[in-house]
Amino acid sequence: MSRATGAVINLSALRHNLQRVRELAPRARIMAVVKANAYGHGIAQVASALSAADAFAVACLEEALEIRHAGLVHPIVLLEGVFNVAELEEAARNGCELVVHDARQLALLEDARIQHNLSVWLKINSGMHRLGFPPSQARDLWERLGNAHAVRNPVRLMTHLASADEISNPRTRLQLGTFAAAMAGIQAERSIANSAGILAWPDSHADWVRPGILLYGVSPFTGRNGAQEGLIPAMTMGTTLISVQRVSKGEAVGYGGAWVAPEDMHIGIAAIGYGDGYPRHAPNGTPVLVNGARAWLVGRVSMDMIAVDLRGLPHAQVGDAVVLWGPELPVEEIARAAGTIPYELLCGVTQRVKFSLVDESTTPARSMASAKG
Ligand SMILES: *Cc1c(COP(=O)(O)O)cnc(C)c1O
Repeated sequence: MSRATGAVINLSALRHNLQRVRELAPRARIMAVVKANAYGHGIAQVASALSAADAFAVACLEEALEIRHAGLVHPIVLLEGVFNVAELEEAARNGCELVVHDARQLALLEDARIQHNLSVWLKINSGMHRLGFPPSQARDLWERLGNAHAVRNPVRLMTHLASADEISNPRTRLQLGTFAAAMAGIQAERSIANSAGILAWPDSHADWVRPGILLYGVSPFTGRNGAQEGLIPAMTMGTTLISVQRVSKGEAVGYGGAWVAPEDMHIGIAAIGYGDGYPRHAPNGTPVLVNGARAWLVGRVSMDMIAVDLRGLPHAQVGDAVVLWGPELPVEEIARAAGTIPYELLCGVTQRVKFSLVDESTTPARSMASAKG
């Protein structure tokens, strides 16, 4: 038997979460954000499961091509646009839509000698100060882009919210006002909302919403979890116990002896570590499920293993199922314990982890390999 460490991706959960976004933003079309290998869930499989989305959004052309290779014909938005002429041409051939966020990209498009009618999104910096043009230039640039030979009209507009996950932060209201002012006199479709905008800022829904983390069943808000937003977590990260050790009071466990047994007790060793994407900074007391019951991490996270306090679970034995996060143990809770955000944990699942797919409307788990074949 091989190492059991695996991530199970629930395709019906993905579809449910997409439907939940439709309920939350009923008048908007949905650009499903599947960048970073669909937040670590597997881009081809996720995009196929989310084929009811109106479009996909990714960070770069390579990610878009993975969606095309999966046979999907949806529009795909490149959120950072393209970086050179060769990419521009390949993006055009593959039906990608481009974000245009700086003068270099504008020049690329104006000089492009391509036959295709490229759909583009003019990105306005409404206050995040990451990508985009100043609001004062929106009107001129919109006209300039619209006149570019390679560009299909009308050019659409996009901006991104920096603090939408902080419900009482006034910055979002300011950004919405800035963007609305920039749009004065422009008749075009707009896109503003990320997941937090979809949940907390109905005024940001506009024509297209761009959910990412929501689709994976995770809340963008600190202190909340996916179930509280009506979502189903799509990933279950699991493994098994590969050893149960008896330790005596005063014995130190793991690297650096960072945790010392307070009494004679059992600990379980689970086959998962930072080499799989489990956070190395998860402290003592981070929850873990053993056979569905809560237990607690003790000692340092190693590359391949963690130790678990089994004092509450006298019957635990080698081979028992261990869940690190999933519907019964929100990844938000693990992220909080480890001083990070769920996005990072999901994106950080490594190549070594075996992925399998489950679809509650059809069969039990099957391997990704057979799913591809
Ligand atoms: C990643 C990203 C999103 C999705 O963000 P979530 O918080 O995961 O919903 C939306 N828009 C842009 C421009 C992004 O880069």
